Amino acid sequence: MEIQILGAHLAEVKGARLTSLLIDGTLVVDAGGITSALSLPEQKKIETILLTHHHFDHTRDLVTLAANAGYYWRKQLVVYAPRYTLDIVTEGLLSSKLYTNFLEYPSEEKPTVILEAIEPYSRKNIAGYDVLVLPVKHSAPAVGYQITSMNDNSLFYTGDTTVGVSECWQHISPRLLITEVAGPNKYADWLEKAGHLCAEFLKQELIQFRALKGYLPRVIIIHIGNPYEQEIKQEVAQVAQELEADIALGYEDMKITL
Ligand SMILES: [Zn+2]
Ligand SMILES: [Zn+2]
Repeated sequence: MEIQILGAHLAEVKGARLTSLLIDGTLVVDAGGITSALSLPEQKKIETILLTHHHFDHTRDLVTLAANAGYYWRKQLVVYAPRYTLDIVTEGLLSSKLYTNFLEYPSEEKPTVILEAIEPYSRKNIAGYDVLVLPVKHSAPAVGYQITSMNDNSLFYTGDTTVGVSECWQHISPRLLITEVAGPNKYADWLEKAGHLCAEFLKQELIQFRALKGYLPRVIIIHIGNPYEQEIKQEVAQVAQELEADIALGYEDMKITL
């Protein structure tokens, strides 16, 4: 399994994109920064998109990718998410009020975007991967995904989350954990209210992981609050040292082979 981090940041600025992961060139998880990261031939290979929640920084490139797929190569994209997320995305991004309605374009029989609702705690074969859907704590209804390949390599991506993500640990055994740190420890109270993690929160959640599972997976941090990146990097390095764990910040176009 090859994972490419398309977007690793909380804000879009030159050199930094919003949250998106690409798996084996065809499966995208979260749609914050797809089209500015990939050439047209690369975008053409994408068939499936999983969304963790409806927030704009995780969904907006549904529109730009659907436009390229619908206008240029008439390929269908299948988007999986919980029903609540799909409903908001349909109204906010895919309705004809905003732009082309890609749920009906180029035709109602063969639209560019097909929506598939998936339920928390369900397990489903999606695009050749075993996908386990787990609810996570955030400021909006959100899920994380454990994605397991045919040869049994697996990652768990929490999406946006905060204290209490450890409730997922009993259900998963990934080799790689991709999660978030949105700000530095000094903003811990605000981050918890906003549904995010800081390094100290991450440490507590990882301590629970190790107590429950007897190991720690490699951890990659994304959804990094841009102005605080150096502070976050230092605080995460401190956690890695204290836990003797492999934890590092992700970055745009980073590739990880599992
Ligand atoms: Zn969010
Ligand atoms: Zn976010």
